[in-house]
Amino acid sequence: MSSLIIVTIVFVILANTQKSKMSLPDIRNFSYEELLAYMKSIGESAFRAGQIFEWIYQKQVKHFSQMTNLSSHLQKRLQSDFVFFEPKVGEKQISSDGTTKILFDLNDNEKIETVLIPVKSRTTVCISTQAGCKFGCKFCASGIGGWKRNLSVAEIMNQVLYVKEEAQKHDNPLSHIVFMGVGEPLDNFSNLMKAIRIINHKKGINIGARRITVSTCGVIPNILQLGREGLQIELAISLHGYDNESRDVLMPVNKKYPFDDLIQACKDYQRNYRRQITFEYILIKGVTCSEKAIKALKKAFKGLICKMNLIPYNPVLEFNHKTPSRQDMFKFRDQLKSFGIHATIRSPRGQDIAAACGQLRIKKK
Ligand code: SF4
Repeated sequence: MSSLIIVTIVFVILANTQKSKMSLPDIRNFSYEELLAYMKSIGESAFRAGQIFEWIYQKQVKHFSQMTNLSSHLQKRLQSDFVFFEPKVGEKQISSDGTTKILFDLNDNEKIETVLIPVKSRTTVCISTQAGCKFGCKFCASGIGGWKRNLSVAEIMNQVLYVKEEAQKHDNPLSHIVFMGVGEPLDNFSNLMKAIRIINHKKGINIGARRITVSTCGVIPNILQLGREGLQIELAISLHGYDNESRDVLMPVNKKYPFDDLIQACKDYQRNYRRQITFEYILIKGVTCSEKAIKALKKAFKGLICKMNLIPYNPVLEFNHKTPSRQDMFKFRDQLKSFGIHATIRSPRGQDIAAACGQLRIKKK
């Protein structure tokens, strides 16, 4: 983006938000490049943008007066142009395995969930990108009640910063980010990309692109767009079916973006961008866990560099599906392996706190 366009965007944002403190923009909505442009526009040196990024994302301060290497003049200017909106924690549940689910109340009373998942010496955070979801996957509580709105970059970054602070308290630094919470990340594409660039930025959260995973239900045009962004991030596809008929059962999105087109899009994505794709596949008794499924998957994955993440179905009260027996799940995994498909069964985490996507949010509606 040219700096002229960025300066214009900054001025439009500021011009629209001078009326009252409440209408000022959260500074965490701004990319590094936009902050650079803002600094230029107020006659400050470019390196100030990096200092501010470090204060926000590395030292995690929430007030401009704490940015002690900035002049008091600049601190005051920032205070008059921006705010920090603090997320309100509506509820926090901690599982016996350490998985922590946080329900945030947003300024307009929408609710989103963020999940902190500690595994050995690392911490992963599962981030929401929308309030509600329009895709209505049948195993997921996030789509119940429909889509309300996209989250802003600041609302996405608030989740990351909150969990970063929590993880530090337990000496388990935040190391991995997965966009797999409430909402379809690729349906909020520009805010997602901006947040990823802040997370990945050396003066931002500074987490390597390969430790960032974006999960999609299969929004084909945006998968292809993601491939053109030139980021070394991981892509996960919620497949949950082995052909059109079986995928239709769980994934209404399959009507718009059918199974074969999705697999072809993955192949196109991989042609430009040779990174392994992860297929998320929920094992549901009598629906996705069968001999027929294995044969179809073997055929579909020919020529793809991929792995399968097999997820035992995590019961959601609103839906009437069942988890297969352990024996059936292991058999399914081993058959896939025998065809050369790398497959692992994900251990369920946080079951005692309903950590599956959208469950806590629905309970609180
Ligand atoms: S799985 Fe993802 S895309 Fe599907 S309903 Fe849930 S949040 Fe939406």
